[in-house]
Amino acid sequence: MSVPTRTAGDRQEALRARAEDLFPGGVNSPVRAFRSVGRAPLILERGEGAYVWDADGRRLLDLIGSWGPAILGHGDPAVVEAVRASALNGFALGATHPLEVELGERIRAAMPSIERLRFTSSGTEAAMSAVRLARAASGRDLVVKFAGAYHGHSDGLLVEAGSGVATLAIPGSAGVPTEVAALTVVLPFNDPTALTLAFAEHAGRIAAVIVEPVVANVGVIPPEPGFLEHLRETTRADGAILIFDEVITGFRVGPGGAQARYGIRPDLTVLGKIIGGGLPVGAYGGRADLMGLIAPDGPVYQAGTLSGHPLTMAAGIATLDRLAPERYVALESLVGGLEERLVDAAAGAGREVAVTHVGSLLTVFFRRGAPIDAAEALTADRAAYGRFFGAMLDRGILLPPSQFEAWFLSFAHREAEIDAIADAAAVAFVA
Ligand code: PMP
Repeated sequence: MSVPTRTAGDRQEALRARAEDLFPGGVNSPVRAFRSVGRAPLILERGEGAYVWDADGRRLLDLIGSWGPAILGHGDPAVVEAVRASALNGFALGATHPLEVELGERIRAAMPSIERLRFTSSGTEAAMSAVRLARAASGRDLVVKFAGAYHGHSDGLLVEAGSGVATLAIPGSAGVPTEVAALTVVLPFNDPTALTLAFAEHAGRIAAVIVEPVVANVGVIPPEPGFLEHLRETTRADGAILIFDEVITGFRVGPGGAQARYGIRPDLTVLGKIIGGGLPVGAYGGRADLMGLIAPDGPVYQAGTLSGHPLTMAAGIATLDRLAPERYVALESLVGGLEERLVDAAAGAGREVAVTHVGSLLTVFFRRGAPIDAAEALTADRAAYGRFFGAMLDRGILLPPSQFEAWFLSFAHREAEIDAIADAAAVAFVA
């Protein structure tokens, strides 16, 4: 049952009713249902810069950022123009398009571990395909992932899988055969001993470790110093393939993603979100010898009717071309300032929270102390977050509708927006 928001108007309410009739939960992706914060789904129909407008014309300061792609803010004119220009040439033409080459080369230049790559239409497909490739290359079946990390909704990766799942309190998903889930080994993040023990127990049987190098799907959890290095050494020593899932962190925590930020060279990388400039996208790539196993060069099948879509490629190129390294530095310092102000605001309201941030990703955890893994994160007070969310929304600030989703800031967020967020939070923390 939906709970009307205070601000719901006639048009939004009517659309919501029609959507609820059509779509499970009224949505086409579960987190949009706003259930974990006790609100009705918003219907948003326009975005510009740091703001979005709902179907009743109400403007909201947006911290969802399309769940990651919108690092330039919404409707960046250069991206819009690139998409428009590409559209005039038709849409997907069913053959390789020059823009695929252009975007692929830009990604490779930014992430040298990606010697060759392939575009897909979603991050889910890319992660699923990278795992298939790792299994084929290694001749092994087991895959290690970390609790709370989300790598899309393919069967084997939908085990202890982060925000949407955590928020809905579903352990994995119905419909995933236990035989498939049994091939996934789930470990705590930031626990080098657990990793060492798992590799001792399953020596020579682990095809790959897939990791969000900064966990962003149970809220933001940075890697502890040395953890990613340990992961790199352990996988290399065992002959397992290290897959960095940089769907969120790629071009987000810095121009070269988490792999550049932390100085680790993974064997394979999974990308999505920002590289598509807001249009549907995914990509996986890495060592040339591994990518040589992908069809038609090799025996690992993977395909996509709309993969490398020219509109997506155009949006991705226009986006990456605007990501000068110094802009990341400026944005990170802005977000650092926001973190400080949120901490102060919470203290002023007598509210115990921990704020984490890496680059322009930020989480306010309603718990004492920053969590180092999913088990700790999941002790956060979701009801308190829900009240905070509602109080912020009432003040025109749209946070992610879950304690376990990162806030995505963008280059369109400036001092004025930081002030507005901090001022609203000072009141909302009391809620
Ligand atoms: N990996 C990570 C780290 C993600 O955060 C997501 C989606 N949020 C995915 C994979 C799946 O991407 P998509 O939703 O495009 O399938």
